Amino acid sequence: MPRPSLCIAGAGLAGACAALYLSDAYDVHLIEANEAASGASGAAAGLVNPLMGRRAKLTWRASEAWAALEETVARARAKRTFDSRGVLRPTTEPKQVRFFKQAASEHPAWCDWWTAEKLSARYPSVQAHGGALWLPKGGAVDVPAFVRALLVRARTQGATYTPHTRLTGWTAHDDHVAVHTESGGAATTHRYDYLMCCIGQGYAALPALEPLDLHGIKGQTLTVQCTGDAPSGLPPISGRGYVVPDGDRWVLGSSYEHDFDDLRPSEQATQRILQKTRSMLPALQGATVHNIAVGVRVKHEPTNLPLVGPLQHQRTWVFLALGSKGLLTAPLIARRLPQWLKESHRVPAEVRVPRTLLPDSWSPTPTR
Ligand SMILES: Cc1cc2nc3c(=O)[nH]c(=O)nc-3n(C[C@H](O)[C@H](O)[C@H](O)COP(=O)(O)OP(=O)(O)OC[C@H]3O[C@@H](n4cnc5c(N)ncnc54)[C@H](O)[C@@H]3O)c2cc1C
Repeated sequence: MPRPSLCIAGAGLAGACAALYLSDAYDVHLIEANEAASGASGAAAGLVNPLMGRRAKLTWRASEAWAALEETVARARAKRTFDSRGVLRPTTEPKQVRFFKQAASEHPAWCDWWTAEKLSARYPSVQAHGGALWLPKGGAVDVPAFVRALLVRARTQGATYTPHTRLTGWTAHDDHVAVHTESGGAATTHRYDYLMCCIGQGYAALPALEPLDLHGIKGQTLTVQCTGDAPSGLPPISGRGYVVPDGDRWVLGSSYEHDFDDLRPSEQATQRILQKTRSMLPALQGATVHNIAVGVRVKHEPTNLPLVGPLQHQRTWVFLALGSKGLLTAPLIARRLPQWLKESHRVPAEVRVPRTLLPDSWSPTPTR
């Protein structure tokens, strides 16, 4: 029996993870407007931090998300891209001590409270306001390298990949979806059984995605070269900004700009990132900026969770809005897509496309 065909638009973290899992059962053709990981996935520092925010709240389905990331890294044979040593979260204000101690008592499997003495014994170069939270299940991923590894794996399973090809729209029919694309100024239409739209910030150019209530937040990261006497052996750190070791360089982040006119890096954001990360890690004084990356995190405002499911037709799916937690959401969702595509009622309500935008035929119970 021929396998159903599926076009995935967008080769960032979402599209690459989807391609890995869906190419098991579908003839996947992945198209990308630019190059793989040229959107948010190319700017991410790659922290895997299951207790995010000032109050260190456990992320959505954290255990499943961690297992999915490990499984996906293994399937993509991308172990070298994942530094899973843990994450250090130094307190950034005295008030945070209470929140972090509470997180440690509520989630002992996920984190451990370190007093100021313990922190300075372990990592004397890290400044905090009264201690730190240690997350043994955490780390950092080289996201562009991970995306590339996912694509290699998907292609060995039969997926095809075409960069520099932009999704411009689609027309859904009962028995297929006509996918409209543009490449080098030429417009083309191809027939597929399904379309999976993983275009991140590209949503803003497609009117069909307007009703989804998405919002883009520009972010900037810096890659810096440390001076010779910089401390070695530090784990990824998330406190006032974040610091992710990358060989003899560090990736520093990040800015959060809700209003922006363009995607150029700004000197103001660079200075702000340097200032906050130096206050946490004074050894960054004197580090030189090697590279600046910019991307846009896409958020689904009402839920702050990803959005998955059929949009107005059973053949046209979206997988968008990974926000700031792509590494803890993309593998988690992607590995369920082969099942969900057949049984869309199984997409969890928290991440499902809003009821009013689901196909008319959608039912919360299995359809025969
Ligand atoms: C500065 C910054 C730091 C971050 N740090 C972290 C972090 O430490 N940890 C973490 O887990 N997450 C982090 N994130 C979030 C993470 O990067 C995102 O959640 C994730 O990369 C989003 O993946 P995506 O595939 O949805 O989008 P993208 O990576 O943006 O991919 C979308 C792709 O679609 C392509 N595209 C766009 N329009 C079209 C079209 N019409 N047709 C075809 N292709 C199209 C784009 O070129 C792009 O390659 C960060 C994000 C930013 C911006």
